Amino acid sequence: MTHHDYDLIIAGGGMVGASLACALLHENLRIALIESVPRKADAQPSYDDRGLALSMSSRRILQKLELWLQVAPNATAIRRIHVSDRGHFGCVRLRAEDLQVDALGHVVIARDLGQALLQKLSQAGMVDVICPAQVGDISVAHDAVTVTTSGEARAGKLSGRLLVIADGADSNLRRQLGIETFVKDYQQTAIVTNVTLGRPHTNTAYERFTETGPIAVLPLNAQRGVLVYTVPTAAAETYLHLEQSAFLDLLWQRFGRRLGRFSDMGALKIYPLRLVLSRQQVLSRIVLLGNSAHTIHPNGAQGFNLCLRDVAALAEHLLLASHRDADIGAPEVLAGYLASRQPDQQRVTQFSDRLTKLFYNQQCSKVMLRNTAMLITDLIPYLKRELIRQALGISGRQPAMVSGSWD
Ligand SMILES: Cc1cc2nc3c(=O)[nH]c(=O)nc-3n(C[C@H](O)[C@H](O)[C@H](O)COP(=O)(O)OP(=O)(O)OC[C@H]3O[C@@H](n4cnc5c(N)ncnc54)[C@H](O)[C@@H]3O)c2cc1C
Repeated sequence: MTHHDYDLIIAGGGMVGASLACALLHENLRIALIESVPRKADAQPSYDDRGLALSMSSRRILQKLELWLQVAPNATAIRRIHVSDRGHFGCVRLRAEDLQVDALGHVVIARDLGQALLQKLSQAGMVDVICPAQVGDISVAHDAVTVTTSGEARAGKLSGRLLVIADGADSNLRRQLGIETFVKDYQQTAIVTNVTLGRPHTNTAYERFTETGPIAVLPLNAQRGVLVYTVPTAAAETYLHLEQSAFLDLLWQRFGRRLGRFSDMGALKIYPLRLVLSRQQVLSRIVLLGNSAHTIHPNGAQGFNLCLRDVAALAEHLLLASHRDADIGAPEVLAGYLASRQPDQQRVTQFSDRLTKLFYNQQCSKVMLRNTAMLITDLIPYLKRELIRQALGISGRQPAMVSGSWD
């Protein structure tokens, strides 16, 4: 029988890789989580100051993973969503009361989530967190997968039954395996920062469409807000060269007076926006997870929420196999996982891509369509409820951790 160093090797300890390790923590699986950049380093790409809107499905999963208690004190509830178009009629107001839920979602800072995830892993001491170390070459045999690692924490070879690749949108490991991708460059860049708001946000998340691009403001504790300004990539440089006060004044004028003046800007970061879909997510003894499998536009704040539902489903399938003493890397286990996730992945990917086409466009016909859509959505309760269900992440068939059938 082949000796395996681990049952599961996870390449990439960002939000998705670390969540999977947490989901499998107390099971009888030997797990290695390999991450190339330490959590506290400025260059850490996953755990930065970005504000993440987490859906109800994500809260349920984080509760099951016993992480919500750590995350909740710094999380801000979203009780209302307000979508409007500068200078035009029509707006959509979504309210938690309409679905009889206490919140439509919660905003957390990625860095706080990272701290909770990695603290949990280090306390439990049941997962080998190997950091900083980089996964290099991958080789697959019929009953094992082997990776090489380089870096301060470990240099050498590791073998396992299954390798999960969670190394992000620009996945080098996906490239190395020769997996093709579908890529759509939106030619847009998100400029993201945190600011103090001149007026209370009343737990409302705002999305405002302007002639120069949409501005989203997500509520944070202490009257702060996450500001996301999505602009054409060609224009992004202009904004980055502005003085801080000039930049905030400009945003304030474009956003409108609802939240008062913006001040005390935090670190500013830019993200080029692309849709990247891997043509394969499952290979022999390998699963691509998170952004390496699908990276979507952040417009609907769905990316990590979708990834976390993938994490919950993969954990479910691996544990079912492990409890039967079956091979967790067997093709039927991985195929079962993928089949269970494809409908949700397709729905969310298409939803976010359509939003981008309709809402990030200044053509006259699109503006009219958008405003009519907003007006109709605001008037028809059924449409509003469906939109809210998408935002909550509870549309369609869901993993047991979300539907509540996980014990
Ligand atoms: C502006 C913006 C706003 C967003 N807002 C939201 C939101 O509100 N709600 C939401 O749900 N989602 C949101 N998202 C999406 C969310 O950020 C992603 O879904 C999430 O970061 C995916 O995590 P990941 O772990 O798959 O990838 P990443 O975060 O990219 O992490 C990959 C990790 O792998 C490591 N790594 C890379 N190569 C190797 C290697 N060879 N060996 C070892 N380690 C390696 C990297 O160091 C990194 O830590 C937003 C995205 C953007 C850009």
